Amino acid sequence: MSQALKSIAENFRIEGEIYSIKPLGEGFINDTYIVQTVGKEASNYLFQRKNKTIFKDVPSMMDNIQKITTHLKTKIVAGGGNPFRETLTLIKTHSGALYHLDGDGEFWTMCLFIKDSISYDSANTPELAYSGGKGIGRFQRMTSDYKGQLVDILPGFHNIRFRLEQWKDVLEKDPVGRKSLVKEEISWIEDRRGEMLKFWTLVEEGAIPTRVTHNDTKINNILFNKQGDVLCMIDLDTVLNSTVLNDFGDAIRSYTNTGLEDDPELENVSMNLEIFKAYTKGYLEEAKSFMVQTELDYLAFSAKYITYEQVLRFLMDYIAGDTYYKIKYPEHNLVRTKAQFKLLQSMEAQFTVMRNTVISYL
Ligand code: ADP
Ligand code: MG
Ligand code: MG
Repeated sequence: MSQALKSIAENFRIEGEIYSIKPLGEGFINDTYIVQTVGKEASNYLFQRKNKTIFKDVPSMMDNIQKITTHLKTKIVAGGGNPFRETLTLIKTHSGALYHLDGDGEFWTMCLFIKDSISYDSANTPELAYSGGKGIGRFQRMTSDYKGQLVDILPGFHNIRFRLEQWKDVLEKDPVGRKSLVKEEISWIEDRRGEMLKFWTLVEEGAIPTRVTHNDTKINNILFNKQGDVLCMIDLDTVLNSTVLNDFGDAIRSYTNTGLEDDPELENVSMNLEIFKAYTKGYLEEAKSFMVQTELDYLAFSAKYITYEQVLRFLMDYIAGDTYYKIKYPEHNLVRTKAQFKLLQSMEAQFTVMRNTVISYL
């Protein structure tokens, strides 16, 4: 066990003596460890070095998480549940802070490790998709009456008006001369601009309300109990106020794709309708009680919105000269653009069924 890690961990109010700190290799964003202690109140803790390239304001992020988990715990206790298993429990430092800032400027955080839980790496069956929908839907339902304000730690996130402004800029600059190579791809974006902006205008004007959203709906951010039931949403780093439809749309974009996000074989890529139905069923069982009619009207559309945004972002990065997404080969961002567009087309082709599916679960 690294002494450096141990001395950082000892800044937190943990029970017992630390006897091991091991890396937990499943996350994509942060460096995650599990800390085990021995002694009277021995426990396990999840210990993370937060990714400060992605998260510019870790203190505000931790305040957001504390606010949301406090809100959730009140509800869990009122419902007779276990507040230490059904949401995250942040561990403070000895000085009462929600993070420790080390000498290298790195932010460290700790929470209880939820024992006897299972997490999955991919949701490729209807059963798991259903659970995925339940997980995020329940989280949104239980936070739908949260009245406080969260700090917007990812400004412009899923805001197509903001993206289209960046888009205009990049097209004007055309910094690496790729614009003339992607005329058709540019028309994919322009042809759909109106309907996408119309949706976002409803959000800006409040017809689609702003609520607490999770913003990282991957199945590995849901813990299950040993019986296979959803226990809770974890990885609350990206909670912020936005439309809940963004969570739904992004989950559909990633859960239902029969191919890869960067699949060079376009015939592999499509939206799996069965997975869509299962996810929507699980989601609406939890979420329909708090959603207003305009949200329900646009639920299916949100999958197209988020997928369109991703097409736009990949294409924009290609034209900009690959400055944001890491690429493995020169045309990688263009391959991603085409694969996401194929997914968007598949959604467009199945849109009537998607809308009818939503209606059938209300
Ligand atoms: P990242 O932001 O890097 O994805 P996560 O917070 O999702 O990091 O943690 C990575 C993984 O660690 C999760 O996918 C899950 O398997 C596990 N994990 C995270 N938090 C807990 C917890 N409180 N209890 C048990 N396992 C956890
Ligand atoms: Mg995660
Ligand atoms: Mg995360």
